Amino acid sequence: MTTVIDSKEAWTKDDSGQDDSGHATDEDEEVEVDLNKEDEAEVKREIVWGNVVKFIILHSLALYGLTLLPSLSLASWIFLFVTYQFSGNGITAGAHRLWAHRSYKAKAPLRMLLLVANSMAGQNSVYTWSRDHRLHHKCSETMADPHNANRGFFFAHIGWLMVRKHPAVMKAGKTINMADLEQDPYLMFQHRHYIKCFLMAGFVLPTLIPMLWGEDPTTAYFMAVVRYVSVLHFTWLVNSAAHLFGMKPYDKNIGPSENRLVSLLALGEGWHNYHHTFPYDYSTSEWGFRINMTTRFIHAMKSLGWAYDLRTASPATVAARATRTGHPELTRAGLREAKKA
Ligand SMILES: [Zn+2]
Ligand SMILES: [Zn+2]
Repeated sequence: MTTVIDSKEAWTKDDSGQDDSGHATDEDEEVEVDLNKEDEAEVKREIVWGNVVKFIILHSLALYGLTLLPSLSLASWIFLFVTYQFSGNGITAGAHRLWAHRSYKAKAPLRMLLLVANSMAGQNSVYTWSRDHRLHHKCSETMADPHNANRGFFFAHIGWLMVRKHPAVMKAGKTINMADLEQDPYLMFQHRHYIKCFLMAGFVLPTLIPMLWGEDPTTAYFMAVVRYVSVLHFTWLVNSAAHLFGMKPYDKNIGPSENRLVSLLALGEGWHNYHHTFPYDYSTSEWGFRINMTTRFIHAMKSLGWAYDLRTASPATVAARATRTGHPELTRAGLREAKKA
């Protein structure tokens, strides 16, 4: 296993072990969330039936799409796999690691590429996604967390998109500083024209492109639906499964866990105990390329000169934090030591 980045080429947090509070960005420390008992109280769930119906239709179309898989040409299979990776990275390398956490910097061509990929993934604009995600980190596993895993697997996975937001989410959401993203004209363009961007990148192009090698347009359309729903579920598993199942080497006091299966499906986002402990780390893991397609993607972009200033937690910071709050024997260094012994 090679170390994918050394300390000379990465911007690292200081090694005192103190500067790893779990804030999504440096900015979100500015406004404290003042939640009282009333805010934390359970409220009657108000179902948004329009969203429920949309999800039923979408999943019915995806199930039908699955029946068409055996008739796909090899070129269409490759296209399906490539668009899954591409749109997935629009969420993981784009909305998540670049924009929500600012864990690395990207030049204009990469930002444009990631915006197209993100629009294809169809999980709301980068702006909305990042606001929800910064709130998820700031108020993790409280009533102000949009997909609070303490409300159960189903709620954290998809249920949160089918009910009105809890009042605590609305209240705490107002404290999230989004000024950095508001200054980016490309992001705000996507935010303002989101539905058009989504339909074009998510369905029109993926239906037209496979016709170049003779794919039936109806089949191509249903493949786009299958890809869309698959990426949705793989991403949602980070909020559900990776908050409920797995080991906690870095902080045993929080729900987020190290979940390999989720990492495999969600392109490296299942190393979630590490990620919630060191959210500024571009790799969301101390394991380099291991089950982490997004880190591979960011490194490919770095070799083109399009990604730079990759931020990471130093081994000393990781060790200090794991000793303080986690299970140091389960960290990369701890497991290496155990192997030697
Ligand atoms: Zn999380
Ligand atoms: Zn995150």
